[in-house]
Amino acid sequence: MKKLFKITAVIMALALVACCFSSCGEKKSGKIVFGTNAEFPPFEFITSKGIIGEFDGVDIAIAKQIAESNGKEAEIQNIEFDSLIVALNNGQLDAVIAGMTITEERAKSVDFSIPYYTATQVMIVKEGSDIKAAADMKGKTIAVVQGYTGETCVKKLGFEYETFKKGTECILELVNGKCDVVVIDSATAEKYVSDNEGLVIVKDESEFKNEEYGIAVAKGNTELLDQINAVLEEMLASGKIADLSAQYIDSL
Ligand code: GLN
Repeated sequence: MKKLFKITAVIMALALVACCFSSCGEKKSGKIVFGTNAEFPPFEFITSKGIIGEFDGVDIAIAKQIAESNGKEAEIQNIEFDSLIVALNNGQLDAVIAGMTITEERAKSVDFSIPYYTATQVMIVKEGSDIKAAADMKGKTIAVVQGYTGETCVKKLGFEYETFKKGTECILELVNGKCDVVVIDSATAEKYVSDNEGLVIVKDESEFKNEEYGIAVAKGNTELLDQINAVLEEMLASGKIADLSAQYIDSL
């Protein structure tokens, strides 16, 4: 009898533990933590009245929509672009939304959503520059942002370059005559050119191919990836992402 009592007690204790574990597992967090680098207008930037705290931009609006469609809140963590994938993989972030180009290299360590925006690298030079194509950058002082696909493109061309932490730092170098050209994503380049007189964009479509932006999640996080893709599909089909891009680019 005593033995039966003991066994029953053990079973009940185990059941209690199992129940606690399963309910802990079910208790989903009410927010999605997105990592970004808010130095990339019009996709992400800091402003006095942002749409999530101080953050605003096309990506921030998309992040907000993804969270809301899933009955959650979006939290934005602003970290260096180069550290985003590391932060995602050590669990600090649920997703990265940062105008991040889907590349084979990055896809080795993260899973990407469906593409949601097509961009290309462009060159920003001073008016009157003799740089008319990518090949003309040879022997010039080139500035890129560290870890951006702009750096990869210039590296591939085999030219020397200097790296900076932010796009604005590259632009300052250009404006101050310390470099001849900045290689950066097209929409962001438009913003910098509209903010700084005397700068122009030079395109070279034969050298700089289209790039597609995707949202990254940790490898194997299919649950979140499916939720993200469902919202992106809907926003792409309804033209919402195109509207947002036009709206934010127009307001530059
Ligand atoms: N699209 C570029 C990249 O993925 C730049 C992204 C960014 O600056 N946020 O490297």
